[in-house]
Amino acid sequence: MKKNIDQLKKKRETKFEFTEALEDVLIEGAIVPKVDVDYSIELVEGEVIIRGEYTAFIKTSCVRCLEELEVKVSGEFFGDYKESKEYKEYIESLGKEAQVLDDMVEELVDGEVDISSLVRDYIILDMPQFPVCEPECDGLEELTKYRDSGIDSRWQKLLDLKN
Ligand SMILES: [Zn+2]
Repeated sequence: MKKNIDQLKKKRETKFEFTEALEDVLIEGAIVPKVDVDYSIELVEGEVIIRGEYTAFIKTSCVRCLEELEVKVSGEFFGDYKESKEYKEYIESLGKEAQVLDDMVEELVDGEVDISSLVRDYIILDMPQFPVCEPECDGLEELTKYRDSGIDSRWQKLLDLKN
């Protein structure tokens, strides 16, 4: 979902509050039906500041048993967009060695801010890297056998013969 900042500028206020549901957040290896967001957009001279919170129920799968599961991911997000002129000045002020890519400040392009893409970056960071359906999940039956004996199943057959 994109927000047209130029349109907001025509209004008298400088701070706007939004409660929305984003339906265009795409994350590899997961399904994101929607993301509920509560945020504010603040227009400061040459700059757009976004602060908010999000909640999403993401469908993914347990890393142990591959069972489908839903994880609740929520957190805060923040965005700082500068108009081209201010952005250039900002980059120059950082100096040549600075790592611009790691910074949270972005350039405002075409007077629009892509809220979905901003929130997506935060979801990826907040998502569990190895989701499990339950803390005690033993995983696939085959893997459990292998893990419990601590012996390669091919050797296990030989041991069975020996006994
Ligand atoms: Zn599981």
